[in-house]
Amino acid sequence: MKYISTRGLSEKGAGQSGKPFCDILLEGLAPDGGLSVPEKYPHFDAAEMRRLRPMGYRELAFEILSRFIDDIPPADLKDIVNRTYTAAVFRSEDITPVKTLEPGLHLLQLSNGPTLAFKDVAMQLLGNLFEYVLGKRGETINILGATSGDTGSAAEYAMRGKKNVRVFMLSPHGKMSPFQRAQMYSLNDPNIFNLAVHGMFDDCQDIVKAVSNDLDFKARHHIGAVNSINWARLLAQVVYYFKAYFAVTKEEGEEVSFSVPTGNFGNICAGYVAKKMGLPVCRLILATNENNVLDEFFRTGLYRVRASKEVFETSSPSMDISKASNFERYIHDIAGADGAKVRELWLQLDRVGSFNLAGTPLEAPMRASGFVSGNSSHADRIATIRAIHERYGYVVDTHTADGIKVGLAHREAGVPLICLETALAAKFEAAVQEAIGRPPERPAGYEDIESLPQHCEVFDADTAAVKRFVELKDR
Ligand SMILES: *Cc1c(COP(=O)(O)O)cnc(C)c1O
Repeated sequence: MKYISTRGLSEKGAGQSGKPFCDILLEGLAPDGGLSVPEKYPHFDAAEMRRLRPMGYRELAFEILSRFIDDIPPADLKDIVNRTYTAAVFRSEDITPVKTLEPGLHLLQLSNGPTLAFKDVAMQLLGNLFEYVLGKRGETINILGATSGDTGSAAEYAMRGKKNVRVFMLSPHGKMSPFQRAQMYSLNDPNIFNLAVHGMFDDCQDIVKAVSNDLDFKARHHIGAVNSINWARLLAQVVYYFKAYFAVTKEEGEEVSFSVPTGNFGNICAGYVAKKMGLPVCRLILATNENNVLDEFFRTGLYRVRASKEVFETSSPSMDISKASNFERYIHDIAGADGAKVRELWLQLDRVGSFNLAGTPLEAPMRASGFVSGNSSHADRIATIRAIHERYGYVVDTHTADGIKVGLAHREAGVPLICLETALAAKFEAAVQEAIGRPPERPAGYEDIESLPQHCEVFDADTAAVKRFVELKDR
């Protein structure tokens, strides 16, 4: 299996030869600015689906990942998967259990990993893949990132204690919730560094960009990232779409729909990949919050990136996006893997901030791709948390509530609807309190994480100071 860039160019400028998985694992963007995608997608026929159906999570994960990763020996890949997806880390042998709310309506529980959100499912695998590949190559990596909460903590919990990996995570000083702060700052592994920056999330992000744009510094200190465009993260998420399908159906060919609370289009793009691999998906239901860039696209064909001052701060903050970084993979696919077309559209995005597929040759493949969409407001998510609690006695978080609200609006008779639970309610106490009049329960072990000792280094929003710190630790 080889990987190509969505923009269709190699370093030499014309045409491209594919790269193996381990090369793109550690690379951020492709050299032409595009994202890595497989040259072709493997396809499971009905006989193969029957073989996969009874498998446990680890076995299934190996079957799927090994179709996309052929430059790690199978025995080693199996070992990585088996060490990653354990009941000890994900608090259930199923890893991603399905909870049936009523016949035909299911919750796919993805948030039982260490940081109580679905990003753990992919990030935990990434931690073990990084350690393995870096070890083989005798390389090290210094992961530099900025977080307003969720991604940073998932990355830190995945990379803690890993050989040849250090994490430098910038966060806005005093701006995260007490729970998020406790999750991150209570880690005391020697390879994890929390840098609390006087400023906002954007200031943190700007420092990360400035450091990464210093190509000399970047190369000298092996600066890397673990952001949502990483192909391995997307790939890891494909597995639970299959697992959930087998959990709610009895026979091959039965169709299901998935509803996915969406920000950067990583999670739902994994569902799209699963569909391309032969999973019988009726609809991929995309839910946005007030930041409705993608809902607008799937309704009208217009993709219009928002300026940062147009981005709303909402009560489902992990979906507060101005543009959807993984979206380019989808456009590349519906454009028939035409890199020149993708270059043209992204050039237009750079110039005028939008493109419109309505009335173009790409409208038909877009309409045929199985997506429908909708958006959800603060009032919607509060009402949904309340209604789900009243009807089923279960408390969902704000992001999951957005997905359920939009999912139910597109529910079709006779087609099981699987709503993805992307975080536990425990992470969003204020909204849950508002919805049901009491705070959510916390899982065992998280009752008073706020009282654990916390460690962080406080910085002014000063790129040079952050560089000096990285330099000091990278010796
Ligand atoms: C990251 C995140 C999302 C959005 O997922 P994408 O892959 O970026 O679309 C939704 N819900 C929660 C809780 C998240 O942390």
